[in-house]
Amino acid sequence: MKAAIFEKPGLENLRIKQDTEEPKITEHDVLVKVKMAGINPIDHFAISGAREIKPIPHIPGAEIAGVVEETGKYVSSLTQGDRVVVYARVFDGVCDMCLDGYEMLCRSGGIIGVMTNGGFAEYVAIPEKNVFKISNNIGWEIAASLPVTTITPYHALKEAALKVNEFLLVFGASGNTGIMAVQFANRMGAKVIAVSKDGWVKDFGADYIINEYDKVIEDVKKITNGKMADVVLNSLGIVTWESSFESVGANGRLVTFGGLTGADVKLNVQSLYSRQVKLIGSTGGTRNDFREIIDMSKELKIRVWKKFKLDETKEALQALFAKERDGRIMLEI
Ligand SMILES: [Zn+2]
Repeated sequence: MKAAIFEKPGLENLRIKQDTEEPKITEHDVLVKVKMAGINPIDHFAISGAREIKPIPHIPGAEIAGVVEETGKYVSSLTQGDRVVVYARVFDGVCDMCLDGYEMLCRSGGIIGVMTNGGFAEYVAIPEKNVFKISNNIGWEIAASLPVTTITPYHALKEAALKVNEFLLVFGASGNTGIMAVQFANRMGAKVIAVSKDGWVKDFGADYIINEYDKVIEDVKKITNGKMADVVLNSLGIVTWESSFESVGANGRLVTFGGLTGADVKLNVQSLYSRQVKLIGSTGGTRNDFREIIDMSKELKIRVWKKFKLDETKEALQALFAKERDGRIMLEI
Protein backbone atom coordinates (compact mmCIF):
# COMPACT_ATOMS: atom_id res chain seq x y z
CA MET A 1 0.00 0.00 0.00
CA LYS A 2 0.95 3.64 -0.27
CA ALA A 3 1.90 5.40 2.98
CA ALA A 4 3.70 8.44 4.35
CA ILE A 5 6.47 6.96 6.45
CA PHE A 6 9.69 7.98 8.21
CA GLU A 7 12.57 6.27 9.94
CA LYS A 8 14.38 9.21 11.50
CA PRO A 9 12.75 12.26 13.12
CA GLY A 10 12.33 15.35 10.94
CA LEU A 11 9.84 16.34 8.27
CA GLU A 12 12.64 16.12 5.69
CA ASN A 13 12.80 12.37 6.37
CA LEU A 14 9.13 11.75 5.64
CA ARG A 15 8.63 10.02 2.32
CA ILE A 16 5.85 8.41 0.33
CA LYS A 17 6.45 4.70 -0.05
CA GLN A 18 4.35 2.84 -2.60
CA ASP A 19 5.10 -0.67 -1.36
CA THR A 20 4.67 -0.31 2.40
CA GLU A 21 3.46 -3.57 3.89
CA GLU A 22 -0.29 -3.59 4.48
CA PRO A 23 -1.11 -3.80 8.22
CA LYS A 24 -2.24 -7.18 9.52
CA ILE A 25 -5.31 -7.26 11.71
CA THR A 26 -5.74 -9.38 14.84
CA GLU A 27 -9.00 -11.16 15.65
CA HIS A 28 -10.22 -8.04 17.47
CA ASP A 29 -9.11 -5.48 14.88
CA VAL A 30 -10.69 -3.69 11.96
CA LEU A 31 -8.83 -2.85 8.77
CA VAL A 32 -9.88 0.68 7.81
CA LYS A 33 -9.45 1.98 4.27
CA VAL A 34 -8.63 5.61 5.01
CA LYS A 35 -10.71 8.20 3.13
CA MET A 36 -9.65 11.37 4.87
CA ALA A 37 -7.22 12.35 7.63
CA GLY A 38 -6.95 15.62 9.50
CA ILE A 39 -3.59 17.35 9.96
CA ASN A 40 -2.89 18.44 13.53
CA PRO A 41 0.02 19.70 15.65
CA ILE A 42 0.25 16.22 17.22
CA ASP A 43 1.33 14.83 13.83
CA HIS A 44 4.12 17.40 13.76
CA PHE A 45 5.22 16.42 17.27
CA ALA A 46 5.32 12.76 16.19
CA ILE A 47 7.42 13.50 13.10
CA SER A 48 9.76 16.05 14.67
CA GLY A 49 10.75 13.72 17.50
CA ALA A 50 9.02 15.79 20.17
CA ARG A 51 7.02 12.66 21.06
CA GLU A 52 8.28 9.13 21.46
CA ILE A 53 6.91 7.06 18.61
CA LYS A 54 6.30 3.36 17.98
CA PRO A 55 6.90 1.45 15.72
CA ILE A 56 9.88 2.57 13.63
CA PRO A 57 9.66 3.05 10.61
CA HIS A 58 6.55 5.01 11.47
CA ILE A 59 3.34 6.10 9.73
CA PRO A 60 1.91 9.23 11.42
CA GLY A 61 -1.71 10.44 11.34
CA ALA A 62 -3.93 10.71 14.44
CA GLU A 63 -7.23 11.83 12.94
CA ILE A 64 -8.79 9.15 10.76
CA ALA A 65 -12.05 8.56 8.90
CA GLY A 66 -12.68 5.81 6.37
CA VAL A 67 -14.49 2.64 5.37
CA VAL A 68 -14.23 -0.82 6.92
CA GLU A 69 -12.30 -3.07 4.54
CA GLU A 70 -11.99 -6.19 6.69
CA THR A 71 -12.90 -7.30 10.20
CA GLY A 72 -11.22 -9.73 12.62
CA LYS A 73 -12.92 -12.96 13.64
CA TYR A 74 -14.34 -11.57 16.93
CA VAL A 75 -15.44 -8.16 15.63
CA SER A 76 -19.21 -7.98 16.00
CA SER A 77 -20.18 -4.29 15.79
CA LEU A 78 -18.92 -3.54 12.28
CA THR A 79 -19.01 -5.02 8.81
CA GLN A 80 -17.23 -4.41 5.54
CA GLY A 81 -18.32 -1.18 3.87
CA ASP A 82 -19.31 0.66 7.09
CA ARG A 83 -18.30 4.30 7.17
CA VAL A 84 -16.31 4.86 10.35
CA VAL A 85 -14.28 7.29 12.46
CA VAL A 86 -11.46 6.30 14.79
CA TYR A 87 -11.28 7.24 18.49
CA ALA A 88 -7.68 8.44 18.56
CA ARG A 89 -6.57 7.19 21.98
CA VAL A 90 -4.83 3.89 22.63
CA PHE A 91 -6.22 2.45 25.88
CA ASP A 92 -6.26 -0.93 27.64
CA GLY A 93 -9.76 -0.78 29.12
CA VAL A 94 -8.64 -2.40 32.39
CA CYS A 95 -6.80 0.25 34.45
CA ASP A 96 -8.43 2.51 37.06
CA MET A 97 -8.64 5.49 34.66
CA CYS A 98 -10.27 3.41 31.92
CA LEU A 99 -12.72 1.89 34.41
CA ASP A 100 -13.57 5.41 35.55
CA GLY A 101 -14.40 6.29 31.92
CA TYR A 102 -11.26 8.32 31.24
CA GLU A 103 -9.75 6.33 28.39
CA MET A 104 -7.55 9.29 27.38
CA LEU A 105 -5.82 9.05 30.78
CA CYS A 106 -5.19 5.29 30.49
CA ARG A 107 -2.15 4.25 32.55
CA SER A 108 -0.75 2.41 29.55
CA GLY A 109 -2.34 4.61 26.90
CA GLY A 110 -1.20 6.89 24.13
CA ILE A 111 -2.28 8.38 20.83
CA ILE A 112 -2.94 6.57 17.56
CA GLY A 113 -0.38 7.73 15.00
CA VAL A 114 2.15 8.27 17.81
CA MET A 115 2.14 5.10 19.92
CA THR A 116 0.92 3.08 16.92
CA ASN A 117 0.99 3.58 13.17
CA GLY A 118 -1.54 6.15 12.01
CA GLY A 119 -3.74 7.12 9.12
CA PHE A 120 -1.47 8.80 6.59
CA ALA A 121 -1.73 5.60 4.55
CA GLU A 122 -4.21 3.71 2.42
CA TYR A 123 -4.99 1.27 5.24
CA VAL A 124 -4.69 1.21 9.02
CA ALA A 125 -5.43 -1.57 11.53
CA ILE A 126 -7.44 -0.38 14.55
CA PRO A 127 -8.95 -2.27 17.54
CA GLU A 128 -12.75 -2.60 17.27
CA LYS A 129 -13.23 -0.66 20.55
CA ASN A 130 -11.77 2.44 18.82
CA VAL A 131 -13.88 2.25 15.65
CA PHE A 132 -17.25 4.03 15.55
CA LYS A 133 -19.81 3.84 12.76
CA ILE A 134 -21.10 7.07 11.21
CA SER A 135 -24.15 7.61 9.01
CA ASN A 136 -24.03 8.27 5.27
CA ASN A 137 -25.05 11.92 5.58
CA ILE A 138 -21.90 12.94 7.47
CA GLY A 139 -19.29 14.37 5.14
CA TRP A 140 -15.69 13.14 5.25
CA GLU A 141 -14.38 16.59 6.22
CA ILE A 142 -16.44 16.65 9.41
CA ALA A 143 -15.86 12.94 10.04
CA ALA A 144 -12.09 13.40 9.87
CA SER A 145 -12.38 16.38 12.23
CA LEU A 146 -14.08 14.49 15.06
CA PRO A 147 -11.22 12.44 16.60
CA VAL A 148 -8.94 15.36 17.59
CA THR A 149 -10.27 18.76 16.48
CA THR A 150 -13.80 18.31 17.78
CA ILE A 151 -13.50 16.05 20.81
CA THR A 152 -10.77 18.17 22.44
CA PRO A 153 -12.68 21.46 22.88
CA TYR A 154 -15.91 19.54 23.59
CA HIS A 155 -14.33 17.72 26.52
CA ALA A 156 -12.59 20.90 27.69
CA LEU A 157 -15.91 22.77 27.89
CA LYS A 158 -17.41 19.87 29.84
CA GLU A 159 -14.43 19.89 32.25
CA ALA A 160 -14.95 23.64 32.70
CA ALA A 161 -18.67 23.00 33.32
CA LEU A 162 -19.76 25.85 31.06
CA LYS A 163 -23.31 26.89 31.87
CA VAL A 164 -26.15 28.60 30.05
CA ASN A 165 -25.80 32.41 29.86
CA GLU A 166 -22.19 32.39 31.05
CA PHE A 167 -19.52 34.35 29.19
CA LEU A 168 -16.97 32.15 27.44
CA LEU A 169 -13.81 33.74 26.05
CA VAL A 170 -12.14 31.67 23.30
CA PHE A 171 -8.57 32.44 22.22
CA GLY A 172 -7.69 31.32 18.69
CA ALA A 173 -11.38 31.10 17.86
CA SER A 174 -10.83 30.64 14.13
CA GLY A 175 -8.31 27.84 14.67
CA ASN A 176 -9.26 24.17 14.26
CA THR A 177 -10.37 23.58 17.83
CA GLY A 178 -11.53 27.18 18.31
CA ILE A 179 -14.22 26.90 15.62
CA MET A 180 -15.62 23.83 17.35
CA ALA A 181 -15.44 25.43 20.81
CA VAL A 182 -17.47 28.38 19.51
CA GLN A 183 -20.15 26.07 18.07
CA PHE A 184 -20.47 23.94 21.21
CA ALA A 185 -20.54 26.96 23.53
CA ASN A 186 -23.25 28.48 21.38
CA ARG A 187 -25.32 25.28 21.62
CA MET A 188 -24.73 25.16 25.38
CA GLY A 189 -26.35 28.59 25.62
CA ALA A 190 -23.25 30.55 26.61
CA LYS A 191 -22.35 34.03 25.34
CA VAL A 192 -19.28 33.55 23.21
CA ILE A 193 -16.50 36.13 22.97
CA ALA A 194 -14.15 35.07 20.19
CA VAL A 195 -10.57 36.33 19.98
CA SER A 196 -9.80 36.22 16.27
CA LYS A 197 -8.76 38.35 13.34
CA ASP A 198 -11.34 36.60 11.18
CA GLY A 199 -14.82 38.07 11.03
CA TRP A 200 -16.24 34.78 9.75
CA VAL A 201 -16.19 33.29 13.27
CA LYS A 202 -19.56 35.05 13.65
CA ASP A 203 -21.02 32.49 11.22
CA PHE A 204 -20.06 29.75 13.68
CA GLY A 205 -21.90 31.33 16.60
CA ALA A 206 -19.59 33.93 18.14
CA ASP A 207 -21.58 36.71 19.83
CA TYR A 208 -18.65 39.12 20.16
CA ILE A 209 -15.34 39.33 18.32
CA ILE A 210 -12.14 40.82 19.68
CA ASN A 211 -9.65 41.15 16.84
CA GLU A 212 -6.63 42.55 18.67
CA TYR A 213 -4.76 40.53 21.25
CA ASP A 214 -3.62 43.67 23.13
CA LYS A 215 -7.20 44.73 23.66
CA VAL A 216 -8.58 41.50 25.08
CA ILE A 217 -8.65 42.48 28.77
CA GLU A 218 -10.11 45.91 28.09
CA ASP A 219 -12.74 44.58 25.66
CA VAL A 220 -13.78 41.69 27.89
CA LYS A 221 -14.25 44.23 30.69
CA LYS A 222 -16.59 46.28 28.47
CA ILE A 223 -18.55 43.32 27.13
CA THR A 224 -19.09 41.76 30.57
CA ASN A 225 -19.75 45.02 32.41
CA GLY A 226 -16.59 44.64 34.43
CA LYS A 227 -17.32 41.10 35.64
CA MET A 228 -14.92 39.41 33.18
CA ALA A 229 -15.40 35.95 31.65
CA ASP A 230 -16.83 32.96 33.50
CA VAL A 231 -14.77 30.55 31.42
CA VAL A 232 -11.65 31.22 29.37
CA LEU A 233 -10.41 28.69 26.84
CA ASN A 234 -6.78 29.25 25.92
CA SER A 235 -4.58 26.64 24.30
CA LEU A 236 -2.13 29.03 22.69
CA GLY A 237 0.26 28.99 25.64
CA ILE A 238 2.62 31.63 26.95
CA VAL A 239 1.93 34.39 24.39
CA THR A 240 -1.67 34.85 25.50
CA TRP A 241 -1.34 33.54 29.06
CA GLU A 242 -1.41 36.87 30.85
CA SER A 243 -4.40 38.25 28.97
CA SER A 244 -6.29 34.99 29.42
CA PHE A 245 -5.56 34.79 33.15
CA GLU A 246 -6.52 38.43 33.68
CA SER A 247 -9.75 37.91 31.72
CA VAL A 248 -11.12 35.29 34.12
CA GLY A 249 -13.75 36.70 36.47
CA ALA A 250 -14.34 35.88 40.15
CA ASN A 251 -15.03 32.19 40.62
CA GLY A 252 -14.20 31.67 36.94
CA ARG A 253 -12.40 28.84 35.20
CA LEU A 254 -9.43 28.86 32.86
CA VAL A 255 -9.19 25.71 30.78
CA THR A 256 -6.32 24.68 28.50
CA PHE A 257 -5.43 21.73 26.30
CA GLY A 258 -2.34 23.06 24.58
CA GLY A 259 0.63 25.38 24.75
CA LEU A 260 1.67 25.89 21.14
CA THR A 261 3.63 29.10 21.75
CA GLY A 262 5.36 27.81 24.88
CA ALA A 263 4.21 26.04 28.02
CA ASP A 264 6.22 27.61 30.87
CA VAL A 265 3.93 30.37 32.06
CA LYS A 266 4.16 32.59 35.14
CA LEU A 267 1.43 32.38 37.73
CA ASN A 268 0.60 34.80 40.51
CA VAL A 269 -0.83 32.57 43.21
CA GLN A 270 -2.40 35.46 45.08
CA SER A 271 -4.30 36.52 42.01
CA LEU A 272 -5.43 32.91 41.60
CA TYR A 273 -6.78 32.33 45.10
CA SER A 274 -8.14 35.77 45.84
CA ARG A 275 -10.44 35.59 42.80
CA GLN A 276 -11.02 31.87 43.42
CA VAL A 277 -9.98 31.05 39.86
CA LYS A 278 -9.88 27.40 38.85
CA LEU A 279 -7.16 26.25 36.47
CA ILE A 280 -8.25 23.22 34.47
CA GLY A 281 -6.16 20.98 32.26
CA SER A 282 -7.94 18.91 29.64
CA THR A 283 -6.69 16.40 27.10
CA GLY A 284 -8.64 14.78 24.28
CA GLY A 285 -11.89 13.26 25.46
CA THR A 286 -13.56 10.03 26.50
CA ARG A 287 -15.16 7.44 24.24
CA ASN A 288 -18.48 8.64 25.56
CA ASP A 289 -17.62 12.20 24.45
CA PHE A 290 -16.80 10.69 21.06
CA ARG A 291 -20.20 9.02 20.86
CA GLU A 292 -21.86 12.31 21.77
CA ILE A 293 -20.04 14.38 19.13
CA ILE A 294 -20.78 11.73 16.48
CA ASP A 295 -24.45 12.16 17.38
CA MET A 296 -24.13 15.94 16.92
CA SER A 297 -21.89 15.87 13.87
CA LYS A 298 -24.69 16.48 11.38
CA GLU A 299 -25.16 19.95 12.82
CA LEU A 300 -21.47 20.86 13.11
CA LYS A 301 -19.57 22.90 10.55
CA ILE A 302 -15.88 23.01 9.72
CA ARG A 303 -13.92 25.38 7.54
CA VAL A 304 -11.40 23.65 5.31
CA TRP A 305 -8.63 25.76 3.79
CA LYS A 306 -6.77 23.20 1.71
CA LYS A 307 -7.01 19.54 0.85
CA PHE A 308 -3.89 17.62 -0.12
CA LYS A 309 -3.32 14.16 -1.58
CA LEU A 310 -1.34 11.48 0.25
CA ASP A 311 1.57 12.18 -2.12
CA GLU A 312 1.65 15.72 -0.74
CA THR A 313 1.72 14.84 2.99
CA LYS A 314 4.88 16.88 3.55
CA GLU A 315 3.31 19.97 1.96
CA ALA A 316 0.15 19.41 4.01
CA LEU A 317 2.15 19.33 7.23
CA GLN A 318 4.03 22.48 6.24
CA ALA A 319 0.75 24.25 5.45
CA LEU A 320 -0.42 23.75 9.04
CA PHE A 321 1.87 26.55 10.20
CA ALA A 322 1.48 28.79 7.13
CA LYS A 323 0.75 32.37 8.10
CA GLU A 324 -2.00 32.67 5.50
CA ARG A 325 -3.80 29.54 6.71
CA ASP A 326 -7.51 30.20 6.96
CA GLY A 327 -9.17 26.95 7.97
CA ARG A 328 -8.30 23.27 8.27
CA ILE A 329 -5.76 21.21 6.34
CA MET A 330 -7.00 17.79 5.28
CA LEU A 331 -5.40 14.82 3.60
CA GLU A 332 -7.50 13.03 1.00
CA ILE A 333 -6.49 9.41 0.61
ZN1 LIG B 1 -6.39 2.00 30.90
